[in-house]
Amino acid sequence: MPETKIKILPDFIANQIAAGEVVQRPESVVKELVENALDAGAKTIAVIVKEAGKQLIHIVDDGAGMSEEDLKLSVKRHATSKVFSAEDLEEIRSYGFRGEALASIASVAFLEIRTKTEEEGLGWKLISEPNKEPVIEPVNMSSGTQIFVKNLFYNVPARRKFLKANLTEFRHISDTMIKFALNRPDIRFTFYDDETLIFDVMPSGIVQRIKDILGDKTSGALIKVNHETKYVTVTGFVGEPSIAKQSKAGQYLFLNKRSINSKSLSHAVYSAFEHLLDKNNYPFYVLNLQIDPKNVDVNVHPQKHEVKFDDERYVYRIVNQAVLEALRDKALTPDFSIDNSIAVNPFEKSNPTGDNDFVLVNKATGEIIDRELPRESKSGGHDFVKGGDYNIPRNRDAGRFDSGRELSAFEELFGKEEGSVANKPVAQAPSDPHIMQVFNRYLVINTGIELLLMDQKKAHERVLYDKAMNSIEGKINNSQELLFPVTIKFNASEIAVLKDAGDYLEGIGYKFELKDDSLVLTGVPVGVKPGKEEETIRMITEDLHEHDYRNTDNPGEFVARAYAARCAVGNIKLNSQEIKSLYHDLRANGNRLSPDGKIALTVIKPDDLKKILSGK
Ligand code: ADP
Ligand code: MG
Repeated sequence: MPETKIKILPDFIANQIAAGEVVQRPESVVKELVENALDAGAKTIAVIVKEAGKQLIHIVDDGAGMSEEDLKLSVKRHATSKVFSAEDLEEIRSYGFRGEALASIASVAFLEIRTKTEEEGLGWKLISEPNKEPVIEPVNMSSGTQIFVKNLFYNVPARRKFLKANLTEFRHISDTMIKFALNRPDIRFTFYDDETLIFDVMPSGIVQRIKDILGDKTSGALIKVNHETKYVTVTGFVGEPSIAKQSKAGQYLFLNKRSINSKSLSHAVYSAFEHLLDKNNYPFYVLNLQIDPKNVDVNVHPQKHEVKFDDERYVYRIVNQAVLEALRDKALTPDFSIDNSIAVNPFEKSNPTGDNDFVLVNKATGEIIDRELPRESKSGGHDFVKGGDYNIPRNRDAGRFDSGRELSAFEELFGKEEGSVANKPVAQAPSDPHIMQVFNRYLVINTGIELLLMDQKKAHERVLYDKAMNSIEGKINNSQELLFPVTIKFNASEIAVLKDAGDYLEGIGYKFELKDDSLVLTGVPVGVKPGKEEETIRMITEDLHEHDYRNTDNPGEFVARAYAARCAVGNIKLNSQEIKSLYHDLRANGNRLSPDGKIALTVIKPDDLKKILSGK
């Protein structure tokens, strides 16, 4: 047989690669294992974590359990009892379906599974260590499954190092546990942080569950939402305006019993509240959408926070209407009218702009965005749940900027009404390449010899980052003076962060003076758009606050990166001038990766196209 260059990856390597997708942090393990327990029909699920799950994640369920044979198979890749045919994939009703979680976890941690079915007298225990054959032996136990995940990522130091401080990792876990608890009030959840009971909630109705988890204040201010159409059912609650928060911490959205993040649907609720809320406030909600699984694609990313609806605009409108109706019934909105002329038949795809083919994505990291637990959740976790308020103890002003972000997300989804150059080819001088913006986020550039694909945000980040780094190194002046100084209020801990990071911030081009409770901005880096001075410095401060940047290898670099990420253009339509200057900047820069190592620019040669088109 001739020597081949292409080899099939050994299972172990394949699992570790898959683990990179499935297991990003302890929270992902918790999520996968709790979902498995729910899929197994458990009525009681206990979760115990030690050191924010880095040392131990222990999950106990009273579900169906596994036979010895199933136990052996469960840790093999693509072993699943849930999807057997392509048709099954079309309508997924279980949480799991990839058969990747256990295999992935087994490749990056010590894993022990104990399990017993109702029918069998004896249970089975599987002990697995990365890169070794698992060992199985009988064990005495009651029916159900117990899983222990120890020393996550101990064999992948780079990933272990990447984990955040315990407080942050724990916050992710408890956020996920709260979502499960709110999503499935029919299940008893017990959640321990080491020895500390965070919550133990009995099966109940949703209102009682909201009370158990979030407290009386919230459960006493709920407005029922119930709206049904042929395509989608929206049920649940929104909070009265009195319990709105300055952040999105109290927003829970479930689709077919799966927690999802959706900027557009979050906006759909928000805009129904429009005139009822103070500026910078966000409504509380726990909403469930039911849509025939056939019309939803969750098979987009292993993290599965992403969802693709057949008709996004329609779902947006229905959610918006459902909330408006609920508020009207409470006599909270004096008057409103639904414009039925724009009602859309979900089965006929409306696509007037030709570009609503998008995917709802949480950040690439799979992290839960815009959701905060109290900073002291470790010690105060108990209070937080029992004492009951989902509010953030810190006074966060950051929320106000989210509305800006929402808007652009909204525009991104539905486009601006006014004529925009975005989807039309840009007029060029003859020597210029043809540049076209597509899907509001990529630039396609035809140079005549090759095709360049550019991710506009990543590209812009690269450009801003390099200028900031050059500025830190004293090579360029990256600062522009403000005509009028801007005074921005910050709380004490933010002031401390700003003081601490002062030199770096000045390094990248900020000029400011610190007072006890405010910052007076007199100059900003050139990448800060006029009018965005306050918003961007706030977000950067937030990032520094959140990420313990002092402990990174190069704090200055971290500051530059935060600046680049916060000031880069989002996924929005750009005008032809912006498109051109982005292209020229990146070309001058010559770097094809974004600061965080993502591809900002890729080159497609005629041969590549030939391959694509011939399917080779
Ligand atoms: P998936 O959930 O996508 O099927 P997993 O790797 O998460 O893949 O799990 C593999 C299989 O192991 C599941 O399909 C299920 O049959 C079995 N399994 C996992 N966890 C449990 C559990 N807690 N109780 C019973 N069976 C389980
Ligand atoms: Mg699973």
